[in-house]
Amino acid sequence: MKHPQDEIDEEAVTPADGGFDHGSSPEPPAEEIEISGSDAVLENTDDETDPPEDEVVADESDTVVVEADAEPVEADAEPADADMVEMDAVETDADGADAGTENAVAEEPETQAPTTAGSTSMGFDDTPLARELSEITRRRRALAAEELPLPSRTRVFTVANQKGGVGKTTTTVNLAAALARNGARVLVIDLDPQGNSSTALGIEHRSETISVYDVIINDVEMDEVVQKSPEFDALYCIPATIHLAGAEIELVSLVAREQRLRTALDRFLEESEEPFHYVFIDCPPSLGLLTINAFVAASEVLIPIQCEYYALEGLSQLLTNIQLIERHLNPHLSVSTILLTMYDGRTNLANQVAQDVRDHFPEQVLDTLIPRSVRISEAPSYGQSVISYDSSSPGSLSYLEAAAEIARRGAPN
Ligand code: ATP
Ligand code: MG
Repeated sequence: MKHPQDEIDEEAVTPADGGFDHGSSPEPPAEEIEISGSDAVLENTDDETDPPEDEVVADESDTVVVEADAEPVEADAEPADADMVEMDAVETDADGADAGTENAVAEEPETQAPTTAGSTSMGFDDTPLARELSEITRRRRALAAEELPLPSRTRVFTVANQKGGVGKTTTTVNLAAALARNGARVLVIDLDPQGNSSTALGIEHRSETISVYDVIINDVEMDEVVQKSPEFDALYCIPATIHLAGAEIELVSLVAREQRLRTALDRFLEESEEPFHYVFIDCPPSLGLLTINAFVAASEVLIPIQCEYYALEGLSQLLTNIQLIERHLNPHLSVSTILLTMYDGRTNLANQVAQDVRDHFPEQVLDTLIPRSVRISEAPSYGQSVISYDSSSPGSLSYLEAAAEIARRGAPN
């Protein structure tokens, strides 16, 4: 597999070449990037990078609206988040990436068919909703028909991107759940003091809970900390509590500060009675010592990239850091997987970002795109992955398909 650094040069992600204006914060030169010590904390505080809604131009040609002679299918649902695509603009969307359609069809696909009273020119089979339903059925059948291969050795993924809110946690939790549902034994390590993965998996992580903090700082064994997910028998989680927020500073003075997670994980995997097939480490949105610990513990990096305006900003800095880790701390590390998230096929911008990323990383980007989806965003509030929360929704199917792709591709050589 080509190294991603071969695929992307620094120039390629500049506005002049890539067609994107990635904002005004220039990348620091590689020499300035420290990989250890307190200086290593390269926080990206740029969480608020979503473009204002009026900058997202809906491509109306992609939009199919059920017209007069078929009853309009209303999204029967909860109000969408402010940053969700306007639902009333689109009753149904042929490409299935639309949250409104998802709400309309996901709960009871069979009963949601529009009645076409008075319809003469358009039979039900021709409606966008019917096409959507049959597409969902086709995807479900294809997934059900395939038995996913299990890796012969544990694949350890670090899910990283120092940009905040790009879907790291959502991807960690849902890929883990998708693989567990397909028979793999999966461990999620929540390495973010926000504890979002723990919440999303319904795992206890109050401040007094013994957690990954104790593993890294106090040398507590992982098997004393690991909890079983209430969702799937084969899904486990090492939770994060708020104490982890102090770990970046506490780590600085500890011996082997970059290797602590790896040492604990290796021991846990070795001593585990049944082998784990996958480990996913959910990183915080920074390139500090916690993320470095995750890079050292993993063999693969999975980078979620949000299909939005600033998607590629900071990516070369991330890749430079991974390269430094590979050179100095973990020669087995490689960026094996890139997943495009929060994709809205009706915007030209999302398509342009997706194409740009595919051009730069043809081997790493999964074919599957994760659509922007109300179901995906509301699942964590029920302490569930979308895989259990609404298994036949387009968002769930997409994560199942992404998991299948990862399993099929196997570990990089
Ligand atoms: P952080 O950097 O803070 O850890 P993150 O990269 O882990 O963030 P998430 O927490 O996974 O990102 O996602 C950010 C927000 O976007 C969450 O509210 C999540 O529910 C929502 N979200 C993620 N993926 C999708 C999606 N495909 N459709 C709709 N909403 C999504
Ligand atoms: Mg997160």
